[in-house]
Amino acid sequence: MNNETLLQLEHVYQVYGSGARRFTAVEDVNLTLSVGEFVALLGPSGCGKSTLLRIIAGLQKPSQGKVLYRGEVLRGVNPKASIIFQTFALFPWLSVIENVTLALQMKGNEEPERSRKAEELLDRVGLDGFESAYPRELSGGMRQKVGFARAMAVEPELLCMDEPFSALDVLSAETLRGELLELWTEGKIPTKSILMVSHSIEEAVLLADRIVVMDKQPGRIIAEHKINLPHPRRRKSPEFQHQVDLVYAILAGQTLSETEELGVAPGEIGQTRQLPEIEINDLAGLLEHFSESDRGIHDLYLLEDELGVDSEYLLRLTEAAEILGFASIAKGDIEATPIGLAFAEASIPARKEIFASRARRIPVIRWLLSMLHASEKQQLKWDLIRTALSLEFPPEETENQLEILINWGRYGALFNYDDDTETLSLESELEKGASVTNG
Ligand code: ADP
Ligand code: MG
Repeated sequence: MNNETLLQLEHVYQVYGSGARRFTAVEDVNLTLSVGEFVALLGPSGCGKSTLLRIIAGLQKPSQGKVLYRGEVLRGVNPKASIIFQTFALFPWLSVIENVTLALQMKGNEEPERSRKAEELLDRVGLDGFESAYPRELSGGMRQKVGFARAMAVEPELLCMDEPFSALDVLSAETLRGELLELWTEGKIPTKSILMVSHSIEEAVLLADRIVVMDKQPGRIIAEHKINLPHPRRRKSPEFQHQVDLVYAILAGQTLSETEELGVAPGEIGQTRQLPEIEINDLAGLLEHFSESDRGIHDLYLLEDELGVDSEYLLRLTEAAEILGFASIAKGDIEATPIGLAFAEASIPARKEIFASRARRIPVIRWLLSMLHASEKQQLKWDLIRTALSLEFPPEETENQLEILINWGRYGALFNYDDDTETLSLESELEKGASVTNG
């Protein structure tokens, strides 16, 4: 591999919104892509991965900072790059093969070479026999394959992919990963560098030469990790698992002091912590797993298989466990706390009480409870809370956070939410009694 630089980001910032709603989605990103490199971008949802990809492809100009392509400042869309999105937009009025030949035609390919090449590409992605079908006749997975064939047909120098396999079923995803890797490692495509956004640690370790890890609040690069394993890589090999373990250690970070973990309440100086979107039953499942095991400390990377969840969701579950003080994490290992084990071993009503007492320590929940206490009839409209929260979180995140708060509050019987009137209210003693007698 040579070290010829293809792309460089220098002190790139992306700010969205304005006034009080202004927030920094991407902060001071420096990144270099070299010729011959397959780089994966990993990080929690909302950390700015898609934003960076769009900036790199020239679809979006950063608020600040420089994008250099082969040493030249990039202006407008990068003609040497092509981007594959999670779900690919095809021309619905064109057949499968026409969708691909169109891309070849724009590259200047002539018939009959054009059709031959298109057929070969479709064959590669497993769409042999579907050449004359129309996009509407295909499953989501098959449409994505056409998208891949089309992106390959363009033969981009820089191939950018935004979670390209995540909308596919497990088998199609694995097949396509294999096809892509073969095209890439055997030099069957003229592509010089690949940048892939992924939310799966395993996928990144399977494909990439280098993993760039991001974190959110604000979105930024926190680490880079090289994967020096030769291809083909075996997911079950000890070397592979070791790499997955190391990347988990970077992504999961380390449990901080309680004040640092919990953040501040809305309106206070500092960061209001975003709560991870999880099913509380799954969190209970994680803690039950710990309580039933004879091991005290668990490798995060092993939990993925043991619990049957992907890395993205597992990291959200462990983050929730950290925030609630149910577990602590260091160096890719997780250990349940005594209170986490007590939660796992408790009856359902006792679990709810433990959960409530832990949740009350979270500043944003305490803030919501005190607002409810202070309000007339101890009720607040959903809209009003959303407005208050919108000053703390990115626009798309606000409603999400409110739903998580409602979900956690309902589980711990801290407050209630009425869907019809869109009102939050404090759970009164009377109502608690009523809900017990009514079953
Ligand atoms: P990721 O791909 O890592 O999930 P994104 O780059 O999509 O993250 O988004 C980063 C943050 O910026 C998120 O909070 C998202 O809601 C916000 N965001 C993304 N695009 C826009 C936009 N066009 N306008 C305002 N906010 C945006
Ligand atoms: Mg994204």
